[in-house]
Parts: sequence; structure tokens; C-alpha cells
Amino acid sequence: MSAEKTIPATLIPGDGIGPEIMDAVTEILDAVGAPFAWDKQLAGMAAVDATGNPLPPQTIDSIRRTGLALKSPLTTPVGGGFKSINVTLRQEFGLYANLRPTRTFVPGARFDKIDLVLVRENLEGYYAAMESYIPVGDDPHGIATGAGYNSRAECNRIVRFAFEYAVKHGRKKVTLVHKANILKLLTGLFLEEGRKVAKEYEGRVECNERIVDACAMQLVIDPWQYDVIVTTNLFGDILSDLTAGLVGGLGMAPGANIGEKAAVFEAVHGSAPDIAGKDLANPLALLLAANMMLEHIGRADLSTRIESGIRAVITKPELLTRDLGGKSGTREFTAALKQHLV
Ligand code: NAD
Repeated sequence: MSAEKTIPATLIPGDGIGPEIMDAVTEILDAVGAPFAWDKQLAGMAAVDATGNPLPPQTIDSIRRTGLALKSPLTTPVGGGFKSINVTLRQEFGLYANLRPTRTFVPGARFDKIDLVLVRENLEGYYAAMESYIPVGDDPHGIATGAGYNSRAECNRIVRFAFEYAVKHGRKKVTLVHKANILKLLTGLFLEEGRKVAKEYEGRVECNERIVDACAMQLVIDPWQYDVIVTTNLFGDILSDLTAGLVGGLGMAPGANIGEKAAVFEAVHGSAPDIAGKDLANPLALLLAANMMLEHIGRADLSTRIESGIRAVITKPELLTRDLGGKSGTREFTAALKQHLV
């Protein structure tokens, strides 16, 4: 289907399996007539090889221009003093909200009918990485220290993001996840702001609170009680991988990093160098990220079509990629999915 490509968006094919799954995803997006006019840019090892820089200025300029990026996984260069590309992108564009929806797609998965969203604060907390050593006797590294910070403004903004997301997507409940019983200031401030914001949504969105360790246990025992979870950076990082595990692992887990001026959509898994170039990769996590991007630009009509195709094809195990128990390669699976699009 040909459609007008009116929405400029940056496309980062990435490393390892990145280019293969990106090809699959753009093929499906084209099949439903998605309106993205892609500006292809390098990052990761592909960018190091071409320019010596894992995040070249042209890539940053492109995202600044488009405000929208679909990014395949990047291989983190080892050594060479390179800063994490994902952290640099978050800081450069103030991508303060990390959004991780978790839904059951594979029938008969250990946990059926899961549909929850985790909102993680992306810029502050312990990931500010203010770490240092204190010498003890002869050992210069006798004690390791790490400090974190949460600002009132950021706590307010992330909880507001979660409530606004709930309103916009017809969700009923937001759970504030914290550890304010021990980290009374660091996560107490988050809870304090969370309660304040929750009051503004009273009658529209229900709010409750959970201590992070109890939340982790309940996510395994009874995940269906959760709707939208909002939490600080480190807790969100850990819990979002836990929730991905509930529905079949990282191969089905999309994520979005959202700021005021830009949004970057990605698969949660890495570049899978062990299967790169072998036509074995499952493109669904990146495709679900592309679906989030379609919803972000107000084209839920197209993401719904893709989702229906995924739900139809996933009931046929023989058509799936190996990580989902099937026998298909990436290209064969993509062709099958295309045929199941309505
Ligand atoms: P990984 O997610 O790449 O791989 C873990 C396992 O899952 C491997 O066995 C792999 O084959 C499998 N796997 C992952 N994605 C798959 C898919 N779509 N289909 C089928 N199987 C899949 O994690 P890793 O091996 O720890 O990391 C490899 C590289 O990726 C590292 O350089 C790491 O830094 C990087 N990484 C990047 C991102 C990102 O860019 N967002 C995230 C995580 C890791």
C-alpha cells in the first residue's frame, strides 16, 4: 500500500540483529501505510566503525529535527571510555519518562491476560551515578559509595505523566511504588508529590501505594491487580524486566523514552550478537515499539491493525520464530505476519 510519508522520523538500524529486525518492522509499517518519512542515521558500533563516535552529531541533529526516533538495539562499545548511548540520549533530550507496557500475546504463556504499564523516571534517582571510593587501610577501594537524588519537580512530572497516560488510555488505577519506609527522603519526596498529584485526579483515576519489595512479590503472585505503575529510576529498571518476564521475556517487550521535545522508541532487548545475521531474530519487540510510536502520533488506527495481525499469527506456533517455539526465520515470519494483516 502506498501512503503519504508526512511525518519525519529518525531511524537507527543499530547493531547485531538490529538491521534485520528494522527491515522487518519497516516492511510491516509500509504494509499498513504508516506515514513516517525516515531519516536513517547511525549509532552504536555501526557509528563507531563509520565515524569513530557511537553517537555522531548528525544522529543527534536528526532527532532534534524530527522529535521522533525508532531505534534498534545498539552494541555497547567495550573500553574506549564511551559513555552509554542510551543514557546520553536520555540526557541530551530530557527523555524523563520510560514507558514499558506489558501484555500477554503468546497464548498459554505462564501468565495469561496481563495488561499493565510501567512508567519509570528516567533521569534521576541512583542512576545519576554519583559514585566514589573511600580508602580503608591499604585498600583505596575499601568502601564504595553511591548517592542519588530525586527532585520535587521531576517526581511531580513523572507521576503526572502516569496519570495523564491513564486518562488518555482509559486506565483506572495508578500505583505509586516507593521505599519511603527506609529511604525516607529520597523516595519519600516521590511519594509526597505522588499523593499531591493523585488528589488532582480523584474521581477519575484511582491511586494506591506499594513498597517496592512487596510490589515485586505481588507482581509474581497476582500481576492482574496492577494497571499503571509509576516509580523511580532504579526500581523501575528492575520491575520492568520482571514484568517483561511475566509475558515471555524481552523478545516481546517494547519501550519508549519520552521527553517534552523528543520521543525514542525501542525494543528492550539487546543486539543479540549470538544470532546476528542468521535470520533468527524475532522482530516483535521492535514492532510493538513502532506501534507505540504510531499511537504517539495519533495513529492508533494503524497500530490496532498491526496488533490484530500479531494476535492472529501468534496462535500459529509453526509460523513463529524459534525464541517463541516456532521454526520460522525473521523473513519468513515477517511474510506470514504481513499476510495476517487486515
Ligand atoms: P541481548 O538481549 O542482546 O541477548 C540476550 C539473549 O536473548 C541472547 O541469547 C539473544 O540471542 C536473545 N535475544 C535477544 N533479542 C532477541 C530477539 N529479538 N529474537 C530472538 N532472540 C533474542 O542481551 P546481551 O547479550 O546481554 O547484550 C548484547 C549487546 O546488546 C551488548 O552490547 C549490550 O550492551 C547491548 N544492549 C543494548 C540495548 C539497547 O540498545 N537498548 C539493551 C540491552 C543490551
